[in-house]
Amino acid sequence: MKPLNIAAFTAASLFILSACSGGQDPADESANASAEEAVFADVSDDRLNNAAATPAEWLGYGFDREETRHSPLTGITADNVGELGVAWTYDLATSRGVESTPIVIDGVMYVTSAWSIVYALDAKTGEELWVYDPDVDRAVGVNACCDVVNRGVALYEGKLYLGVIDGRVEALDAKTGDLIWSKVTVDQSKPYTITGAPRVVDGKVLIGNGGAELGVRGYLNALDAETGELIWRFYTVPSPDKQPDGAASDSAFETVGNITWGEEGAWKTDGGGGTVWDSIIYDEETDSVIFGVGNGSPWNQTLRDPSGLDNLFLSSIVAVDADTGEYKWHFQTTPGDNWDYTATQTLIIATLPLGEGGADRRVVMQAPKNGFFYVLDATTGEFLSGNNYVPVNWATGLDDSGRPVEVPEARYAEIPYLQTPGPLGGHNWHPMAYNPDVGLAYIPAQEIPQAYATDPRFQDNSTKWNTGADFAAGVPQLVPSEVFKFLRSGLKGRLIAWDPIAQEARWTVEHDGPWNGGVLSTAAGIVFQGKLNGEFAAYDAATGEELWVADVKSGAASGPGTYEIDGEQYVTITTGWGSAYLLSAGGVAAPQPVQPTVGKVVTFKVGADGTIPDVDIPLVEASPKTDEFGTDEQLALGLVQYARNCTVCHGPFAVGAGVLPDLRWSSYTSSADAWKGVLIDGNLQSIGMVSFADVLSEDEVEAIRAYVVQQAHNTDGINDAIASEGGGLQ
Ligand code: CA
Repeated sequence: MKPLNIAAFTAASLFILSACSGGQDPADESANASAEEAVFADVSDDRLNNAAATPAEWLGYGFDREETRHSPLTGITADNVGELGVAWTYDLATSRGVESTPIVIDGVMYVTSAWSIVYALDAKTGEELWVYDPDVDRAVGVNACCDVVNRGVALYEGKLYLGVIDGRVEALDAKTGDLIWSKVTVDQSKPYTITGAPRVVDGKVLIGNGGAELGVRGYLNALDAETGELIWRFYTVPSPDKQPDGAASDSAFETVGNITWGEEGAWKTDGGGGTVWDSIIYDEETDSVIFGVGNGSPWNQTLRDPSGLDNLFLSSIVAVDADTGEYKWHFQTTPGDNWDYTATQTLIIATLPLGEGGADRRVVMQAPKNGFFYVLDATTGEFLSGNNYVPVNWATGLDDSGRPVEVPEARYAEIPYLQTPGPLGGHNWHPMAYNPDVGLAYIPAQEIPQAYATDPRFQDNSTKWNTGADFAAGVPQLVPSEVFKFLRSGLKGRLIAWDPIAQEARWTVEHDGPWNGGVLSTAAGIVFQGKLNGEFAAYDAATGEELWVADVKSGAASGPGTYEIDGEQYVTITTGWGSAYLLSAGGVAAPQPVQPTVGKVVTFKVGADGTIPDVDIPLVEASPKTDEFGTDEQLALGLVQYARNCTVCHGPFAVGAGVLPDLRWSSYTSSADAWKGVLIDGNLQSIGMVSFADVLSEDEVEAIRAYVVQQAHNTDGINDAIASEGGGLQ
């Protein structure tokens, strides 16, 4: 099915072209040809505002402006979904984390991989049309809290917009992949990253950034789509001296923001956080941009801002004027964030009968990390209702204004508090969907508890991970199998069909573990979701009954999409290991061992019988174990410094996840000099392992080596624990 209004756009473009080219006859064949070229991937505001009118295409990150991820396509039904087969697959260029949702327009699929690489593919066959690599310096990878992922691109008026992990935003020619403009949108001397998909509204490219685990000041940029020039910027935390920035956010801080921050604390040097790293939506009815704001820098509020004030706009949903960036309203989900409780998760606009006498009301919905599902008035931000969608033990509920009623112990100090949700959230970046026909939001939900305690070794203004929360809290020197069993038993994941009016689950599907995939909903009453165990499944939208499942042979965490070509409906998903969970908790919860895989696009249609190529990267040969060494003090120091500096990429307890090296098997452990050469001298910087000389002493580096070797010798116990569960989660 062709876009309904393509003829009108072609005619309009012809008219403009002929006007600009000195009155050529519009019927002239050369003018006609150039006009057709000009309308390639001609995504306009009108088309974006009416995405449901062209359901054959997938025009934006969340399908439509409301980001429902609900497609009107009905070619795949409950009756034939069981006949879905692999239409084609495509290998992405890396084995690193995969989070991308493909955009499909004019028969072309635009998809991204780790290191911000863009691929244009024939959406019917998977044939490669062009590849664009922004050629990122691999050393910036250390700034990425949660791997060097990318969640997708935006298309607008023939151009493609890309956020690059090093803070660039770039515009490409959608037809050729040629670079049109490139702008650095961050201070590259600071640990900013961009992983999110841009959105384009009325000629403005909206893009935020990440980095709040290391220490940055968050903001949302609106760039001129033609030139990349900055049009407006909305900061999410005040400047250190609370003086105006000359930015769109100035009035917001003057009126409501500045008074929520104290006069001292690490926020003044560490940026305060509040990065806008994922969800940005546009509400056409009010001409507002509504975006989600992340956690504080550092996490620990006692260190960030000992005043204990609310710290706007951390962990908030904020609405601004789309033209000017001027503040309209905000709702803070987690006042005085202390736990990495971002409110960056999927925002969806819907119309629900919540007005006076059951009248329609336009609302915005979110299931942020903190475990509560919120329904707000989209025009005013008024809190309408909320309830917890996963178990929470940091608050007993929400008061009438939507403010959490906190449990005092959750404001942790030296004594750890075992909390749920933990910093990975009750819901993370995995896109939520909403089906208006059955009135259900589909939440990829999870339970990953975490012990929070104040880190006595916190360094103000660090360049590396710097949360003020002690990642070594409660971690034993030797990890007995019981600890592994205990940790694994507490990890849960489920698909929740949430009724936003009743504020309760209508049905749930329990999965084998957490970190399951984003959701696609279709008008045929089907919900698609990938899982961490490598399955991709379809469920009945109303009941949760499983209708179909396929083995995609790798992690399937991304948001799936759907489109139609020549009357056939396709369902597509990007697959691959990596991204935050496997990197940060691989040894605890991932399938064991994780076989590395090249990231892939896997596309299905009814009646296809293709196959997914088998895993093609050999497991790294393990080096012989280095002899154990080190005093008790040295090993204890190694545990602490490993937990603080190495866990997030190389795995807790030095148990890797297969994507980045498992240090227990590294030949570098056999030589103090070689080890120091990597950690202090930066000898592996070119492949992304930068020097830690600014945060670690030589003694600490050697202590980490002793700890990693100790863990290598402790491996049998760990493997026993996993084996005793009958193969773990695989
Ligand atoms: Ca965070």
